Amino acid sequence: MSGLSAALRLAMFGKNVLVLEKHYVVGGLNSFYARKGRKFDVGLHAVTNFPSPSSGKTSPLLRACRQLRIPFESLNLYEQSRSRISFEDKHIRFNNEFSFFLNEIYENFPKEKDRFRNFLQKMEDFDAYSINVPDLSTRSILKEAFAEPLLGEMLLCPTSYYGSAQENDIDFATFTMLFDAIFKQGLARPSHGIRAILDPLVQKLDEMGVKRLMNNAVKKIKTYNGKATEIVMDNEDTYTADHIISTCGLVETEELLTKKKTPPKENKMGNFSVIETISVFKGKPTDFGWDETVIFYNDDQEFRYEKPKESMDSTSGVICIPENYQDPHNQKVDESRLRITNPANFDKWDSLEEPAYIAEKARCETVMLQKALEYLPKGQIQKKDFSDATLLKDTFTPRTIKKYTNHANGALYGSPVKSRSGSSQIKNLYLAGTDQGYIGIVGAMLGGIAVANNRILRPA
Ligand SMILES: Cc1cc2nc3c(=O)[nH]c(=O)nc-3n(C[C@H](O)[C@H](O)[C@H](O)COP(=O)(O)OP(=O)(O)OC[C@H]3O[C@@H](n4cnc5c(N)ncnc54)[C@H](O)[C@@H]3O)c2cc1C
Repeated sequence: MSGLSAALRLAMFGKNVLVLEKHYVVGGLNSFYARKGRKFDVGLHAVTNFPSPSSGKTSPLLRACRQLRIPFESLNLYEQSRSRISFEDKHIRFNNEFSFFLNEIYENFPKEKDRFRNFLQKMEDFDAYSINVPDLSTRSILKEAFAEPLLGEMLLCPTSYYGSAQENDIDFATFTMLFDAIFKQGLARPSHGIRAILDPLVQKLDEMGVKRLMNNAVKKIKTYNGKATEIVMDNEDTYTADHIISTCGLVETEELLTKKKTPPKENKMGNFSVIETISVFKGKPTDFGWDETVIFYNDDQEFRYEKPKESMDSTSGVICIPENYQDPHNQKVDESRLRITNPANFDKWDSLEEPAYIAEKARCETVMLQKALEYLPKGQIQKKDFSDATLLKDTFTPRTIKKYTNHANGALYGSPVKSRSGSSQIKNLYLAGTDQGYIGIVGAMLGGIAVANNRILRPA
């Protein structure tokens, strides 16, 4: 998404652009696929940053649409119904009305009212978008901000799941951006899934004559005197360019360089990955008494966001029900989806031979589903009825994330070390997307646009 956005922005200003993509489909982590005649989005739970009426021209999503000349209305976005953060028996609900979320905080944590207001002001005063922003631990800031630690732990849960590259913490700039994106603006989904965003990007690139080479990976970037001089592809084809934008990650890009200034350091490697299982089931979610869109849960008072010792850990996770976006079409569907995401261990999955991999996926599907059903309203329908209603299950693991993104360790959000300016150790090579610290769909688009604008079209 960041690469396509950067390419489009450059093409609009007359640059001669070439897009090199390892996969045979576009989109990276925000791609799509078909299974048994059904279409699936790879990563899409929610488009964050749904523009609130008050955000006006400052809305990041509207800004991305404007810069890419994609009419916002063409995305056909529908807002969430209502979502929830649940830690044991404590629940904070939220929708796209910030006042509703505030009310939930004040009702659940009445003694924290003033401290929460101060915390909101602290975020307002913090310039999260500055490229020189200091790297601060949100967990420490939250511990100081509130007398009741549970409030901070609950706020960490959705923000980490939607964008933290660090285990058990998130840097304060990313937290501030995601707090804004999730709670102050809100969640939505395009009626036709992720292709509502990918298709216009690709169509515009094609119309502008931008060549996209698919199914061929960059193998090496040759350098001379601190400049990138040539790109070598897997099939040994070579290309030269005045500027190169890499969206494959910080460590991964350094690995491509023929002459490295510094070897990749352990602390640059992301570790956090996930497993996700999608159950397609007969009927509407409301038939089961489920009317919420996304549920972030944690079994304990302390939020765990780390690489588990075993292949996966179901004690913390995310449940998403795409048919609970307020799309009128969802009133008529005869089948729906339940998506469950849990932390997973890349090494464990990577070491499995195919039969053991398939068996472990099946085992995890059962465990994940059982746990998710505990966090969903019981309704009148029991676990057995849900398995009877299930038509198809599909599961992806950290190994799949590695396949789609090439991220080392299948790291969901790349490296904990970010290059916000997009600079790399090579003069004419820039980083965009995940390892630039712009997270999610809207972040990836804005990141690509920022690198194209600030580093190539009008460098400082
Ligand atoms: C399960 C899951 C759910 C998610 N849900 C959401 C969500 O609901 N909302 C949201 O906003 N975000 C979500 N995200 C995050 C979002 O998908 C990412 O933040 C976003 O896709 C990052 O975009 P990107 O352009 O930085 O990188 P990527 O999507 O990682 O794209 C990188 C591209 O580079 C290509 N590539 C890599 N190496 C090479 C090479 N050597 N040569 C050529 N090409 C190469 C890859 O094939 C890929 O196409 C989710 C992610 C996951 C995994």
